[in-house]
Amino acid sequence: MNMKINQVTIDALASLCKRRGFIFQNSEIYGGINGFWDYGPLGVELKRNIKDSWWQSVVQWRDDVVGLDAATIMHPRVWEASGHLDGFTDPMVDCRQCKGRFRADLLLEDQGIELETGSTAEKNLKLPANAKCPTCGARDLTEPRAFNLMFKTFIGPVADDTSAAYLRPETAQGIFVNFDNVLSVARKKIPFGIAQIGKAFRNEINPRNYTFRSREFEQMELEFFIKPGTDADWHAYWVKERLDWYERIGLARANLDQYEYGKDELAHYASACVDILYRFPFGLQELEGIAARGNYDLSRHREFSGKSLEYFDQETGERYLPHVVEPSAGVDRIALAVLCEAYTVEWIPKEDTEGDIRPAEPGEKVPSGYEERVVMKFAPRLAPYKAAVFPLLKNRPELVKTARSIYDQIKKRWPAFYDQTGAIGRRYRRQDEIGTPFGITVDFQSLEDDTVTLRHRDSMKQDRVGIPELPGILAEKIDE
Ligand code: ATP
Repeated sequence: MNMKINQVTIDALASLCKRRGFIFQNSEIYGGINGFWDYGPLGVELKRNIKDSWWQSVVQWRDDVVGLDAATIMHPRVWEASGHLDGFTDPMVDCRQCKGRFRADLLLEDQGIELETGSTAEKNLKLPANAKCPTCGARDLTEPRAFNLMFKTFIGPVADDTSAAYLRPETAQGIFVNFDNVLSVARKKIPFGIAQIGKAFRNEINPRNYTFRSREFEQMELEFFIKPGTDADWHAYWVKERLDWYERIGLARANLDQYEYGKDELAHYASACVDILYRFPFGLQELEGIAARGNYDLSRHREFSGKSLEYFDQETGERYLPHVVEPSAGVDRIALAVLCEAYTVEWIPKEDTEGDIRPAEPGEKVPSGYEERVVMKFAPRLAPYKAAVFPLLKNRPELVKTARSIYDQIKKRWPAFYDQTGAIGRRYRRQDEIGTPFGITVDFQSLEDDTVTLRHRDSMKQDRVGIPELPGILAEKIDE
């Protein structure tokens, strides 16, 4: 059982993320803007590592998936065809007393009021009499109204209905409208997939839980096109693939879960849907949805564009509109899960030598001879910096020279950090707090025998290793 989740609170995590440069409030010097976040020097590395790992496993390491990078603004007809213009709404209620505005389904969920399940129940949501305003407590809420989540903009100099366009609320439609283009160039046969990573925008009624529900976020989506009738098998295949990936990036199985939609909860065109959930400090919540969507999207684009979009199977001579399995994940939610999972508070012996490391007991005093450390236990492949290089003393040019040359070599291959200021224990602690898995210290022995100390973040063990061996050792640990 993973104990770490019990330790982290979103407040503690958000404070570390700001202090160390993972995540900043957007436009902070102007008081911030709700639902938008900026990633700092470390956050951008973390997010990039998540995206790279997804891209490797979904595109690069496979022969049956190719990539795409479509624009964020598309022809407005796309959103008519996809159903977003009419149906991409959340139920919104207003408080008549304090004028607060809330998403009705989340408000009821928070107040422990059972929601009727089913894809149509959500659309026809009714507020029970005991529902109250989460801000002022008044039982004086309006009936829910459908609020469209798409951000509207205008193309060109005239802002009128003919120039209206939308920021995409998902990346998937860019894939569907390029299906023919990709098919004609990629020389792929069904089953094959098209993957895309990119920004999506939703005018969420109540952005909340830190970055979990934002108004601008990134998605990693795959449309895996299949032969009709093979939907159930491919759906099960992708659920397993994706769960395995979450474990590979370091999320404990005990903190992952899945929710399988009942038949009455599915959209009318879908045959199966599973959400992959993570145990966040604010509850078990969705990271990714994996849906078997039939041929709904291609058939709608066929209808609206007049293009056939059919696939011709040369072996069987059949012509059909492919079905699709869609794993759709959010980069920011995954980054948040990875940060929660990594955040660990421990008591360690003061001298920073290896020894007895104890999980911190919340509310208890640190035992004598120990100190508290916060350590981000990222899987090495996700850590923003892979290694930090330290000369033992900054005023000894021979130590500095050797340390810098090791650093120069490592940084060509992996993001690395060089630090020569402060006591070595404090330098280690700074790296622990940002999750750097390896510390490399150059001392006087290094000058004699070409070795350094390699310190391991989690165990704090220190090995003596030869400088020429360093890249090989790091490569093995980072890629494992
Ligand atoms: P929710 O029910 O939480 O609003 P959803 O089911 O509408 O999410 P999808 O439309 O399935 O989400 O989007 C796919 C993925 O995109 C989600 O699993 C999530 O990781 C991410 N995502 C969706 N909305 C947001 C958001 N507002 N902020 C951050 N990530 C989001």
